[in-house]
Amino acid sequence: TKFSSKNVRQTFIDFFEQKHQHLYVPSSPVRPRGDPSLLFVNAGMNQFKPILLGAVDPRSEMARYRRVVNSQKCVRAGGKHNDLDDVGRDIYHHTFFEMMGSWSFGDYFKEEACAMAWSLLTEHYGMSPDRLYVSYFSGDAASGLPADEETRHIWLDIGVQKDRILPFGLQENFWEMGDTGPCGPCSEIHYDHLGGRDASPLVNTGSPEVVELWNLVFMQYNREADGSLRPLPQQSVDTGLGLERLLAVLQDKRSNYDTDLFSPLLDHIHQVSRCGPYGGRVAPGLEGRVDMAYRVVADHVRTLAVCIADGVSPGMSGPELVLRRILRRAVRFSTEVLQAPQGALGSLVPTVVQVLGDAYPELHRHQEQIVSIIDDNEDQFLSSLQQGVRIINKTAPLSSNHNSQPLFPAPVAWSLHRNLGFPLDLLQLILEERGLQVDQVLLDQLLARNHKRGSEPAVASESETHLDVHTLASLKQQGIKHTDQSPKYQYNLH
Ligand code: ATP
Ligand code: MG
Ligand code: MG
Ligand code: MG
Repeated sequence: TKFSSKNVRQTFIDFFEQKHQHLYVPSSPVRPRGDPSLLFVNAGMNQFKPILLGAVDPRSEMARYRRVVNSQKCVRAGGKHNDLDDVGRDIYHHTFFEMMGSWSFGDYFKEEACAMAWSLLTEHYGMSPDRLYVSYFSGDAASGLPADEETRHIWLDIGVQKDRILPFGLQENFWEMGDTGPCGPCSEIHYDHLGGRDASPLVNTGSPEVVELWNLVFMQYNREADGSLRPLPQQSVDTGLGLERLLAVLQDKRSNYDTDLFSPLLDHIHQVSRCGPYGGRVAPGLEGRVDMAYRVVADHVRTLAVCIADGVSPGMSGPELVLRRILRRAVRFSTEVLQAPQGALGSLVPTVVQVLGDAYPELHRHQEQIVSIIDDNEDQFLSSLQQGVRIINKTAPLSSNHNSQPLFPAPVAWSLHRNLGFPLDLLQLILEERGLQVDQVLLDQLLARNHKRGSEPAVASESETHLDVHTLASLKQQGIKHTDQSPKYQYNLH
């Protein structure tokens, strides 16, 4: 169909390539090349950072880039741009997503950039201007940055209604790649999914009704290590449009997860789970939690596949550690909430490859390796959990008299966490069932001391694999059988 993910991606590239003389440059791998300031590629501009900084070898191919278009694989699960905690809870942040981008390196500037973006959205993708809001930088006195009045006037000239042009400050409208690196004021385009009212108060509030689609960054500075802003040698344009969010609009869906990038995956998850089909709820309560688990698993398996294909496997530090956390989080949501059997996560990979493989052929090439790495890591995690349960059973036998010893020893909890990566929220739940509590004061001290030393636990830390304790509690309350299928007994079975 006209607005399939494949066509929408291609329309973007064709528009800039054919109508506006941009050069198509393929996505870089998600592992950053020679940039220690990054864990993962978090935006389309990362691979072009040397051009923006004026640091590119004049003899290289890149030195000739003036206008560029691409569709970049991005991961935002660590560093300055970290969306991991939102993923699954909302319907428009992913850990892996595709950012379609266009660039001018010292070529055209604000006026053309705004005009091209407006023309693509309203003429080629057919969006109604009365669903769109645009924003511009309102300035920041403390940093001596002026308001971007020029951009406000450009939008007025294009014909955008006055009350749809909104000012925002540093937080929303001054884009920065990381703690250091290229940055500048930006102008964004937001979409109102409902229409028929003044939705301007909802822009940039996190409401799923009005969602940010496209960011046009006017690159003018480099953020230096000392925090100061150094003007760049030339003014550039760097834009990023989230494909998943764009598709939701064009396919007339409220949620990214209802688009053709995700629905085959959610159907597949349904087949391997012991739950009803995905229902799209974000509300609290059991059903909302099951739907959240669907979203987390779908999101995370995409991220795992893309990262492993690009040479980042779950491991012990840097991006590898982040990926390990993502894997363990996916395993817990899949086994504990969706009641899927061991191996389910890896079995989803062919569906990821089917959806994304044409755009990113490296997924086809590495499919088998992706499955086996996911399976091996899942086995390892589940056996750590099993080992942990054994230690808990020894330390706090079910039959013992708890009145005499109501506190579970912190050093044991600490060692479960440190050496086995046993999730502390799961420990807490198991102890609760036995009328016990961990010695939290001492445990916090142990955790803080470790944190200060900066050493990582052998496996995933709590905050990152955290599965809402209430998820398990409410599953229990609301009648999902918590006998032989319950999480802790499942672990005992493995
Ligand atoms: P948000 O405010 O929604 O978190 P952002 O301002 O952090 O988005 P930008 O850094 O401006 O995002 O990135 C450009 C575009 O990439 C966004 O306008 C959006 O369409 C898309 N995008 C950003 N983060 C995500 C994500 N986690 N998942 C999906 N799309 C994203
Ligand atoms: Mg963000
Ligand atoms: Mg934003
Ligand atoms: Mg933005």
